[in-house]
Amino acid sequence: MSDYADLLIIGAGPAGMAAALAAAPSGARIVLLDDNPLPGGQIWRDGPQAKLPAQARQMREQLLGLSNVRHHADTRVIAQAGPKQLLLEDAERGWVMTYETLILCTGARELLLPFPGWTLPGVTGAGGLQALIKGGLPVSGERLVIAGSGPLLLASATTARSNGARIVRIAEQASRGAVAGFAAQLPRWPHKLLQSFGLFDHHYRTGSHVLEALGSDRLEGVRLHQQGKVVELACERLAVGFGLIPNTQLGQALGCALSGTALAVDAWQASSLADHYAAGECTGFGGSELALVEGAIAGLAAVGERDAAQRLWPQRARWQGFADTLNHAFAIAPALKQLAKPDTLVCRCEDVAFQALAGHADWRAAKLASRCGMGACQGRVCGGAAQHLFGWTPPVPRPPFSPARIETLLCLDDTPPL
Ligand SMILES: Cc1cc2nc3c(=O)[nH]c(=O)nc-3n(C[C@H](O)[C@H](O)[C@H](O)COP(=O)(O)OP(=O)(O)OC[C@H]3O[C@@H](n4cnc5c(N)ncnc54)[C@H](O)[C@@H]3O)c2cc1C
Repeated sequence: MSDYADLLIIGAGPAGMAAALAAAPSGARIVLLDDNPLPGGQIWRDGPQAKLPAQARQMREQLLGLSNVRHHADTRVIAQAGPKQLLLEDAERGWVMTYETLILCTGARELLLPFPGWTLPGVTGAGGLQALIKGGLPVSGERLVIAGSGPLLLASATTARSNGARIVRIAEQASRGAVAGFAAQLPRWPHKLLQSFGLFDHHYRTGSHVLEALGSDRLEGVRLHQQGKVVELACERLAVGFGLIPNTQLGQALGCALSGTALAVDAWQASSLADHYAAGECTGFGGSELALVEGAIAGLAAVGERDAAQRLWPQRARWQGFADTLNHAFAIAPALKQLAKPDTLVCRCEDVAFQALAGHADWRAAKLASRCGMGACQGRVCGGAAQHLFGWTPPVPRPPFSPARIETLLCLDDTPPL
């Protein structure tokens, strides 16, 4: 079975939704696909315990009302089927989508750094816990420690608290000076200043980070370095996030160049590959406001509306300024590279410990010697950690990009050569 889109948008978070809405008035046949059941991405993730903001609901309704935009939910990209062709799979079928122009809006995922005990049940990512709670995980009455870096810790605490969790500590690794400097800049973005008042929590401590998750069969407590002292706190849940890493794998596999750890784009959000654009956090962490304006620029540029796209450049520069200020203030301290002990697992899918990786020249050598990154997550977790710990560039992923049914893979045989 084959299918066609003038404009294919991968990822229906703020960037992808904004791209589709901006491109739709052109009349182009647009397909917006996402591996989640509902549009919204990470920040506007839906679920039984989620409260969606009005902006997210409005954007969803607008998209639903557009006859030239099709939304494919719960759909994954399995492989490249040919030039400008992707093999897709949902719960019922596999099929090939041919497109003229593509916008990658694949977002970012959490950076999880290994520390002793991080694989104990009860320990999750900070954004991961938030996603679980929105999806229905009951946390009422549970004691929760949140650690790591950046505003996502506070957002996660807010979601947990409003669902009945008891916040015991929020340990921010950035120094008091760095956080105060960031807060002093916030009046430049009044909306962010206002948001920060709602997020404040008196359990917040700067200059603090996790040392060890304690417990035998499941989490019972956490040992923290807290402003120069070592403290132990009893808790049922520990949520740890050290910032975000861009999801570049699909872009890399298609041939888009990287700039640092993100997909490289120009002022039009065009990638290094002709007719392929990228927007939002796959091009670097910046928050939902930056993702929205980048998505709109990419959508307009992709359908030839360059004047309208250019009018949004000042708005993008304003939110890029916020992103730069935030990334500077919450840069991960080098001390956090020392959290793992020799026997701490780095690749939890294949049980590969830190000592089996240290000393290798690069990711490929480590993978060949240890099976690191060859398990179910295909290096999505340990690849990011190894990049941070050892400076190894993650390899370009090979298809299938996610587990697929045999019938889906057989569609590749039906694809006529171009
Ligand atoms: C776990 C987590 C929780 C977060 N929570 C908050 C929060 O509470 N508040 C806040 O301000 N910021 C939060 N952020 C930051 C947030 O990611 C951004 O500010 C914003 O959502 C970025 O928008 P985006 O459109 O670039 O990407 P995203 O919102 O990440 O959207 C990308 C979408 O693309 C989909 N996707 C990716 N690859 C593929 C593929 N190959 N095939 C199909 N679909 C694909 C993803 O499932 C996702 O739905 C969170 C980030 C993470 C990782």
